[in-house]
Amino acid sequence: MAAYEFIDHVYDVVVVGAGGSGLRATLGMAEQGLKTACITKVFPTRSHTVAAQGGIAASLGNMGPDSWQWHMYDTVKGSDWLGDADAMEYLAREAPKAVYELEHYGVPFSRTEEGKIYQRPFGGHTTEFGEGPPVQRTCAAADRTGHAILHTLYGQSLKNNAEFFIEYFAIDLIMTDDGECQGVVAWKLDDGTIHRFNAKMVVLATGGYGRAYFSATSAHTCTGDGGGMVARQNLPLQDMEFVQFHPTGIYGAGCLITEGARGEGGYLTNSEGERFMERYAPTYKDLASRDVVSRCMTIEIREGRGVGAGKDHIHLHLDHLPKEALAERLPGISESAKIFAGVDVTKEPIPVLPTVHYNMGGIPTNYWGEVLNPTATDHDRIQPGLMAVGEAGCASVHGANRLGSNSLIDLVVFGRAAAIRAGQVIDRNSPNRPLNEKSVEMAMARFDRLRHAAGSTGTAELRLEMQKTMQNDAAVFRTSKTLKEGAEKMSKVAEGMDDLKVHDRSLIWNTDLMETLELANLMPNALTTVVSAEARKESRGAHAHEDFPDRDDEKWRVHTLAHMDGETKVKLSYRNVHTDPLTSHNEGGIDLKRIAPKARVY
Ligand SMILES: Cc1cc2nc3c(=O)[nH]c(=O)nc-3n(C[C@H](O)[C@H](O)[C@H](O)COP(=O)(O)OP(=O)(O)OC[C@H]3O[C@@H](n4cnc5c(N)ncnc54)[C@H](O)[C@@H]3O)c2cc1C
Repeated sequence: MAAYEFIDHVYDVVVVGAGGSGLRATLGMAEQGLKTACITKVFPTRSHTVAAQGGIAASLGNMGPDSWQWHMYDTVKGSDWLGDADAMEYLAREAPKAVYELEHYGVPFSRTEEGKIYQRPFGGHTTEFGEGPPVQRTCAAADRTGHAILHTLYGQSLKNNAEFFIEYFAIDLIMTDDGECQGVVAWKLDDGTIHRFNAKMVVLATGGYGRAYFSATSAHTCTGDGGGMVARQNLPLQDMEFVQFHPTGIYGAGCLITEGARGEGGYLTNSEGERFMERYAPTYKDLASRDVVSRCMTIEIREGRGVGAGKDHIHLHLDHLPKEALAERLPGISESAKIFAGVDVTKEPIPVLPTVHYNMGGIPTNYWGEVLNPTATDHDRIQPGLMAVGEAGCASVHGANRLGSNSLIDLVVFGRAAAIRAGQVIDRNSPNRPLNEKSVEMAMARFDRLRHAAGSTGTAELRLEMQKTMQNDAAVFRTSKTLKEGAEKMSKVAEGMDDLKVHDRSLIWNTDLMETLELANLMPNALTTVVSAEARKESRGAHAHEDFPDRDDEKWRVHTLAHMDGETKVKLSYRNVHTDPLTSHNEGGIDLKRIAPKARVY
């Protein structure tokens, strides 16, 4: 192994990731005077959060009656009763506070006539515990909400003296011999130096792993690096089988057309010009939840009613909406449709197709963002020194299916919660423990192996094989046969990591090596996804199993925990779902009967 020299840093907290969740955590930590570093492989405002269009859910009630209890109910139902009730309550209750905080930090929200924050309807968000009409709950800054949030949070973090390490790639966690997380090793991409960050708390805010699939709305940087780091420490990943397909990715390109487009009155049609969602979801129609709409579109295509020469996609109409409304509320997607589909949305429909969009699963945490390392007897055991927030984490508020606009709110609510918790548990005056050299050596040995990999398969080639396998065998509809084949194929694909060829051995702007490290992170995410899916013999939320079409609460209302067993195998166990909310009905909380499982129809 090449000898590596280290540049050392000591902090109270190191946050890995500068998307919405990482920045909200960084800002919160810094505000409390914790010495905080934020490491990010891309410039903060280029994180995938920047692409979030539609908005952020909170029951402000600016456009009609709303309550956090209704928001909680919708989230429970959206999750298909797999989310943790305490975390979902925390999310819905804290959401308005978190949004007003964003407003005060300077997020330029769109406004109503009276100057209040503008809110639009979004799929699955309703009134009166799912019995009333759709609600306008999604707060928006036109169709560039993520962009507005990210820029504001970055500015605020700088103002509070958080320190940024930009274009640093976190390679691995550093763990003490007694299993506490105590930092990360990172590679500075522009000059090749290696940095050791010693911290009392590491927060993983590394985002999702959409790029395990061939067609995804997420950025090429969404490679599940946090999940990879955790899996290598023999910590579990939770509920990985639940992958959300967004109904409206642009056909061919994969770029997202926000659900806000349907929120503003857009609708879907098949080759017969029929508004088919009226048939499947008579009440909420095109605004039923995402998994439902994606499945209905897939059925229409499979039954021969797709549009286009190949009858392989669906039309999204905005052409009936007033031009001024499109220009004011949906300027970004009008532009995307023009660039990526050559369509003028004021005149013609947009060709769309369900596309991988969000990972419900991730690193298990409680509602304070503390990572869990469950045992058979203690399902909520806390992993010391480690937190996870945002799409990388699984609190779990989205359960088997996330509602639109519930991710941005998850980022800020739990980013903030992690900071509050860190403020309570970190002893600012105690010295940091010396770093465990053995753990650092292991990380560098792995890095070195990949850097000098001299096999015969290029990284891009193996990545494509993985993406195609996931796209074909762990898709919108799943069968015992496709899942079994998928699990076997993925295991083979993962074996391919031993035969990789990295062409560039340098340490300066070596994108070949960086993409190889990313592939090494995608691999455990992909494997745990397909293996967890194969084991789950029911249909729930985004996991639509054709051989087991019903939800089975008796047997399967449990979180899947997936541990990597070597490089190519996965071991599964299960963890109880939290069914009790934080506060009872008597204390102004939610009536348990309201959130008891029932059929999920829209
Ligand atoms: C196109 C699109 C539109 C969306 N629209 C909405 C919406 O309207 N409403 C909504 O609620 N949700 C939306 N979502 C979902 C939501 O935007 C994402 O789930 C969310 O932004 C993820 O934020 P995050 O903070 O977890 O991670 P990200 O924003 O993905 O950021 C990840 C960060 O981790 C860093 N990182 C990763 N790996 C490493 C490493 N190894 N070393 C150093 N740094 C690393 C990256 O540099 C980056 O800063 C949308 C998603 C997409 C893809």
